[in-house]
Amino acid sequence: MPDDAALPATSYVIPPAPVASLPIKGSSQVFPVRRIYCVGRNYAEHAIEMGSDPTREPPFYFAKPADAVVINGADMPYPSVTKSLHHEMELVVAIGTGGSDISVADALKHVWGYCCGLDMTRRDIQNEAKKTGRPWDMGKGFDNSAPMGALVPAAGVDPSKGLIELKVNGQVRQTSDLSKLIWSVPEVIANLSQLVRLEPGDLIMTGTPEGVAAVVKGDLLEGVVEGVGEVRCRIV
Ligand code: MN
Repeated sequence: MPDDAALPATSYVIPPAPVASLPIKGSSQVFPVRRIYCVGRNYAEHAIEMGSDPTREPPFYFAKPADAVVINGADMPYPSVTKSLHHEMELVVAIGTGGSDISVADALKHVWGYCCGLDMTRRDIQNEAKKTGRPWDMGKGFDNSAPMGALVPAAGVDPSKGLIELKVNGQVRQTSDLSKLIWSVPEVIANLSQLVRLEPGDLIMTGTPEGVAAVVKGDLLEGVVEGVGEVRCRIV
C-alpha cells in the first residue's frame, strides 16, 4: 500500500493538547508523561511535622495532571488563590513498562528512570480540604505544580539510598536520605499497581522528607538527589 493511502489522521474538533514530556539527561529524546501519581506522607519526620502518626499506615495517593510539569530551569509562576505555597522535594520514578499487580520483586524492572521533582503545594488550600474532608486536588494538582529535573535511566541508580536535599536561595531547607522512605520505591510501585494499572509514561512522586515551608516570588529552589541529578526552579 503506498504511503499516501495510509489511514486518515483522526479529525479532532479542536486541536488536541500537546503531550507533556520530560527531558532526558544527555539525550535529544524526551520522555512522554501520561499521569503523575504522588505518595502522601512517606517519610516519618514529614508525617510528624504535618501532625500525622508516622507509623507504617498503608500508602495513599493523589495525582497531578501531566501538564503540571515545569521543565527544569524554567520559572514557576506563583499560583493564584494561595498565601502559602510550599515546596516538597521528592524522588520521581518514571514507569517504562506497564502492569497491574506488580510484585515487589519485579517492581524495579518496570522503571525507565528517575528524576528530581518538586511537589509544589498550596498548603492553605490543602489544609482547608483536610479540615472539611474535601479532595486535595486544588491544593496539589494546580497549573505548573510539578517542576522536574531531567530524567536519568534506571540502570546505575539505586533508589534505596542517597541524599535528598533542597536549597532555597542557597540555604538548605530539606535534607534527608532515600533510605528513610517509609514505603520503598518497589513497595510503592507494587502497591499502586494494585489500585490502578500503571502504564509507560506514568510518573510517581515518592513523597517528601521533613522541612517543607513556604516560598515567595523571587525564591530560587535547587534540589538534588544523590545519583539522580537535580531540579532547579525560580518562583516568579
Ligand atoms: Mn508530596
